[in-house]
Amino acid sequence: MTNVILLGPPGAGKGTQAKRLVEERGMVQLSTGDMLRDAKASGSEMGRKVAEVMDRGELVTDEIVIGLIRERLAEGGKGYIFDGFPRTLKQADALGELLSQMGQGLDAVIEMQVDDAALVARITGRFTCGNCGAVYHDRTHPTKVAGVCDVCGSHDLKRRADDTEDALRFRLMEYYKKTSPLVGYYYAKGKLSGVDGLAPVETVAAAVAKVIDGK
Ligand code: ADP
Ligand code: AMP
Repeated sequence: MTNVILLGPPGAGKGTQAKRLVEERGMVQLSTGDMLRDAKASGSEMGRKVAEVMDRGELVTDEIVIGLIRERLAEGGKGYIFDGFPRTLKQADALGELLSQMGQGLDAVIEMQVDDAALVARITGRFTCGNCGAVYHDRTHPTKVAGVCDVCGSHDLKRRADDTEDALRFRLMEYYKKTSPLVGYYYAKGKLSGVDGLAPVETVAAAVAKVIDGK
C-alpha cells in the first residue's frame, strides 16, 4: 500500500482528491483539519482551545496536530492520504519518524499547484456535507437537488467558519510562511511531484493517479 501527502494551499483541492482516493482505492484519509473540526464540534477541552485559532485562519500548535496523527496511526492500517498534514517542517520530521517506527515510509508528496486568485473563488463557494464529508461548490459543483447531499442524501450541508475572505488571507500567509518550505524539503528527498490543481477535478484525479501508480 501507498502513503501519500497531498500538499497545497487552502482550496487547492486536497480534500476533493482525497475523497476520490478513499472511494476508488480504499485508502485512508487523514485530514487534521477534519479531526480539529470534530474536536471543536464535540466541545472537548482541546476543541475549545483550538477554535479561535482555527477561525482566524492560523495554524494550531505542532504538538496538538502531531498528537492527533500519532493517535490515528497507532490504530494501524496502511495506505494513508495525508491531507492538510504536515504543515510545518517540525510536523514533516515527526511524520517521517512515526512512519519509520511503523516500518513504513512515504511514497509520494503531490504538490497541487494553483494560483491565489482561483483560491478565493473556490473557498468562498465551498460547502460540505456534515454527514459524509462530500465537498461541493456553489458554482462549479452544486448538489443535484438543492439542499440534499448527492452521496448520502443528508440535508446537513454546511459552510466552514474559516471560509471567509478575511480568514483565507491569514490561511494563505500561514501557508507561504510555514508550509511552502515543505516543497523544497520533499524535493530534496526525491519525493515531490507537482500536478496542475487548476485543471478540472477529473483531470487532476488522473494526474494524481499517474503519480501514485508510478511509485
Ligand atoms: P482543500 O481540501 O485543498 O482545502 P477542497 O477539496 O475542499 O480543497 O476544494 C475547495 C473548493 O474547490 C471546493 O468547493 C471544491 O468543490 C472546489 N474544487 C476542488 N477541486 C477543484 C477543481 N479541480 N476545479 C474546480 N473546483 C475545484
Ligand atoms: P484545513 O481543513 O486543512 O483547511 O484546516 C483548517 C484549519 O485547521 C487550519 O487553518 C488550521 O487552523 C488547522 N489545521 C489543520 N491542519 C493543521 C496542521 N497540520 N497544523 C496546524 N494547524 C492545522
